[in-house]
Amino acid sequence: MNDCLFCKIIKGEIPSTKVYEDEFVYAFLDIDPQAPFHAVIVPKIHIKSTDEISGENSMYIAKIFEAVAKIAKYENLENGYRVVNNCGVDGGQTVGHIHFHLLARRNLQWPPG
Ligand code: 5GP
Ligand code: ZN
Repeated sequence: MNDCLFCKIIKGEIPSTKVYEDEFVYAFLDIDPQAPFHAVIVPKIHIKSTDEISGENSMYIAKIFEAVAKIAKYENLENGYRVVNNCGVDGGQTVGHIHFHLLARRNLQWPPG
């Protein structure tokens, strides 16, 4: 997937501010933050969107949520946070490599717009 922005970020071909990394997951600060803390968490394999989660790759999704819990502890997000996955056009997905937004350090409204 040479053309994928987030694959390039994972490989270090495009610079990013790393928040967390392990064998399965890479997390970095969003370039256009929607909250005082806004990280993007991606699997280190190219999965296009939630539509492509299967028994073959779902372990990566579990690893992403393990990473969320670790980042929340490390960043002291004891007040809470929101994890968001945008899927497809109506979901507002703009990058075709599955990712989860971790938003924190402000009171987030519900429902979202
Ligand atoms: P989506 O809209 O697909 O759910 O989220 C994509 C996110 O990636 C957006 O919040 C956008 O700001 C972020 N983003 C897009 N390009 C870059 C980039 O080059 N670097 C970083 N750090 N974030 C990016
Ligand atoms: Zn990719």
